[in-house]
Amino acid sequence: MKAFEYTEPRTESDAVALLSAQPGQTEILAGGTDLVGLMKKMIIKPERVVNIMEIQSLQNIEQLEDGSVVIGAAVTLDEILAFPYMENYPAVTDAILGINSMQLQSQGTIGGEICQRPRCWFFRNGTGLLDDKQVVEGDNRYHAILGNTGAAKYVSGSRIGPALIALGAQVRLVGPNDQEQIIPVAEFFRTPRSEHHRETVLDSNQLLTHLILPAKQSATNATYEVRHGAGPEYPLAAAAAELEMDANGIVRKASVVMGQVAPTPWVSAEAVQVLVGKPVTPEVAEAAGRAAVAPATPLSQNEYKVQMSMVAVKRAILRAAGLETGGF
Ligand SMILES: Cc1cc2nc3c(=O)[nH]c(=O)nc-3n(C[C@H](O)[C@H](O)[C@H](O)COP(=O)(O)OP(=O)(O)OC[C@H]3O[C@@H](n4cnc5c(N)ncnc54)[C@H](O)[C@@H]3O)c2cc1C
Repeated sequence: MKAFEYTEPRTESDAVALLSAQPGQTEILAGGTDLVGLMKKMIIKPERVVNIMEIQSLQNIEQLEDGSVVIGAAVTLDEILAFPYMENYPAVTDAILGINSMQLQSQGTIGGEICQRPRCWFFRNGTGLLDDKQVVEGDNRYHAILGNTGAAKYVSGSRIGPALIALGAQVRLVGPNDQEQIIPVAEFFRTPRSEHHRETVLDSNQLLTHLILPAKQSATNATYEVRHGAGPEYPLAAAAAELEMDANGIVRKASVVMGQVAPTPWVSAEAVQVLVGKPVTPEVAEAAGRAAVAPATPLSQNEYKVQMSMVAVKRAILRAAGLETGGF
């Protein structure tokens, strides 16, 4: 690991003041479960590390009077699971439980989960995120099947991101000169155009401080993941769904977001189009799944993810509707 300056600010503004506008110079440290590994492998070599775990304002999780839930970026994943109002957001808790690791859940924070770097093995072996030739010609079995026609062919690392987008969650960001913005999570993730860009809109001198889950309405939600097995591994395919139905069980409004398929969580307008105006049945859910993967452009070794993603969408919709997920 390269030597670095270690800092431990106590306020959001002190943390921002320690961050550099020049990408790569400084890094934010939360639970460290992702960052430390990357630093040990010298994939990331900051001059200064800014530990945000001593900032009190980032430690709280609370439900506001309007019913929304505000989660500080330094709240750990198991603290989120333990918060009583989270029972309204099974799409989020399903995704956290999917991590299936006591260590990662008690050490990893929600801010770090959303901002974690992609698991792409070319990136993690030091050859960057945007060298698409090596992905096209190499082992691309875990790479993207959607949004992969440009140089970025990795899949977004965040497991919780699709659920947050399906729920209409927002993030609060702060930056220099008391800059503060609250944006939808859907606008937070982006596909970088150069190796200097990150996979989110955060500048290198900005800090994600809070996540805001909207007040629970009548809509229901769920996440479904297709996994290798029960270990702490990323899913092969995943989807989150939120459904709002009328008294007759007809879908009035829906949101379907896929994970592990593209460089960002992937919002499927095609699946929503199939769902709206219909009751949720296994046939309708399957048709929505097929529509979601219709635009897929798999690489040489990941055609299998198309079927898995179809199944993930189908089962996320069935689960959100409170129906059995079994059977294809
Ligand atoms: C063996 C292993 C298995 C894993 N499996 C999973 C998995 O199944 N699913 C999953 O989702 N994750 C997994 N992870 C990844 C990761 O550890 C967790 O997602 C964890 O929640 C990250 O949180 P952290 O607080 O440890 O982040 P850190 O490692 O501290 O930070 C991660 C990144 O986010 C940035 N960051 C952190 N907080 C902020 C903030 N508030 N504002 C701006 N930037 C910030 C850091 O600079 C860094 O780039 C795994 C990691 C390991 C080592």
